[in-house]
Amino acid sequence: MIIVRDKIDLRNRLHSFRNSRPSGRVGFVPTMGFLHDGHRSLMKAARTENECVVVSLFVNPTQFGPGEDFESYPRDEDRDFAICSNENVDYIFTPAVDVMYPPEPLTTVSVSVLTESLCGRHRPGHFHGVTTIVTKLFNIVQPDNAYFGQKDAQQVLVIKKMVEDLDFPIRVVICPTVREPDGLAMSSRNIRLSPTARKIAPVVYHALKEAQDMVRNGERDVGKILLGARSALEQYDKISVQYLDCRDRSTLKSLVYLDRPALLATAVFLDSVRLIDNVFLEPGEASL
Ligand code: AMP
Repeated sequence: MIIVRDKIDLRNRLHSFRNSRPSGRVGFVPTMGFLHDGHRSLMKAARTENECVVVSLFVNPTQFGPGEDFESYPRDEDRDFAICSNENVDYIFTPAVDVMYPPEPLTTVSVSVLTESLCGRHRPGHFHGVTTIVTKLFNIVQPDNAYFGQKDAQQVLVIKKMVEDLDFPIRVVICPTVREPDGLAMSSRNIRLSPTARKIAPVVYHALKEAQDMVRNGERDVGKILLGARSALEQYDKISVQYLDCRDRSTLKSLVYLDRPALLATAVFLDSVRLIDNVFLEPGEASL
């Protein structure tokens, strides 16, 4: 495993790889580090499908808003290197901020419509930062396959649309959300939960599962589904719901009646830690 901090260096190394193995595929896993089993599942998927696996570790400042947790985002480079080494990663790309952002760039990439609801609505500029950094990383790595987690459901839709609209020759692979045994979606931020908050945290997933059960039992009124999930979340004083929303799974259009596959997504603050999670709702699944 080779650790690379410079983008030209990485480009040159990947160029040599492609020259030596012309049909060798490059798989890419972009992350912000402080790796956990969710990230590992993406690395494993990349390892099985590619001859060369690149993981980036970069806490991207431009996707954090003022007052968000860029400074306090957990970081542990040595631990991340050990995890990547265990997963047989070939290259770790971990650039400094000034490597990725030379002074005063004038070009950014943004995706409209899909970024206007859910996380995008509550974190202005967030997806702008995500699509710009992912574009830059895609251009540096030029992967054949790129791996993302369903945990960030809106990000998945935004990246897929960007890849389609801008003709990136990249296959986007989506991996299922990896959870703790009690249901909490794995996240680098979970480390910042107090012991009390950690005990409460699985309710985020359980509230979404309850909504799924309502749909299985025939409920189609989105207002009622959301009310059920919201009251499950709000039984805890420590939880403040930033959003809880049910939208068309592909377009993210708002729904009042569940007549198509939908995404039920939430972001909550538990103490000061922001947690997100989502499930699919399938109106076809009713057991009436
Ligand atoms: P992050 O480091 O949080 O930016 O995440 C990097 C990638 O890992 C993104 O594609 C995430 O969607 C994915 N990811 C994060 N948490 C999980 C999880 N619990 N299960 C699956 N993928 C995840």
